[in-house]
Amino acid sequence: MLARRKTRTVSVGSVRIGSAAPIVIQSMTKIPTVDIARCVRQINQLARAGCRLVRLAVPKRADTAAFARIVQKVDIPLIADVHFSPARAIEAIEAGAAKIRLNPGNIKKRTDIHRIIDAAKMHKTAIRVGVNEASIRDLKKQPVPPEKRTALMLKEMKRYVRLFENRRFNRLVLSAKSSDTLRTIEINRRIARAFDYPIHLGLTHAGLPEDARIPSAVALGTLLAEGIGDTIRVSAAANPVIETKIAKQILKALNLHDCAAPQIELIVCPTCARAEIDVVKLARRVKKAVTGINKPLRIAVMGCIVNGPGEAQDADLALCAAKNKAFIYRKGRKIATVPENKIIPTLLKQLLNL
Ligand code: SF4
Repeated sequence: MLARRKTRTVSVGSVRIGSAAPIVIQSMTKIPTVDIARCVRQINQLARAGCRLVRLAVPKRADTAAFARIVQKVDIPLIADVHFSPARAIEAIEAGAAKIRLNPGNIKKRTDIHRIIDAAKMHKTAIRVGVNEASIRDLKKQPVPPEKRTALMLKEMKRYVRLFENRRFNRLVLSAKSSDTLRTIEINRRIARAFDYPIHLGLTHAGLPEDARIPSAVALGTLLAEGIGDTIRVSAAANPVIETKIAKQILKALNLHDCAAPQIELIVCPTCARAEIDVVKLARRVKKAVTGINKPLRIAVMGCIVNGPGEAQDADLALCAAKNKAFIYRKGRKIATVPENKIIPTLLKQLLNL
């Protein structure tokens, strides 16, 4: 198991964020918050997909009113995404937000920030303090060249954290966002060195799912492998369930995924000219057959007998396919040779005994 950077623990409703707790996947609804029924449906879909926290934007008064009703209808803690309005922040806290996301740079008056902090204290609401590369400006309010941005983002974060700590508020989660993969890695490393608050990781505006997947995996995966990051959100221009699935894949790849129900891991050979059957089709059949079986097992689907057994040695069960048949291995030992139509039933029978 990868070692995590030690942090404080911050409670977000019933969910704990920090190194003493598993890494939390979160996502965001993509439906107007005033559409209560559809928001509730999407939150429930996200919860089923593995999200433990869901964020909703609350740009208007009607949104915080809807947020208050949505909180009552779902079982997971909700986060209110507040951008410019101190009134929305306080309304969201009073509406039952377990956490609010705030960029203090967007709130002009210091007294307003104090009011938000005091309300959060009273309601035990956590605050995610965010700095965003896109809003970084120099002293003359001019855009800053890329190579200077992470230093300024860190400076900005230090200023914000002081603001909260001076008011004795430390229920904080920190986030620094950029759409650039390398700068996301750099700024989060800097923040991890400077503070012991939990960190929210994400890459902004990552793109369509097919474009978002790899940059998100590289940025978040690099940081997570270094022990940095306590809650993650993958951003993609798509249904948020897809974001959640990508986030889960990143955590699984690093063996960091804490799933309430243990899951089967399916590994599939990439196939090559040696394969005498359609490996992808067989792997899809296996995946469908084992869906819903909650066991922490590894199944390998390999395309041939030449390299398959060796490559499948670490699997609990392995299928090495040949023309019209497959050799079944259990914990690296061959236990059966079955015709193609018996592959799935034999696999399922073996699975039940593991
Ligand atoms: S297991 Fe066989 S078919 Fe699959 S990639 Fe390796 S050599 Fe090719």
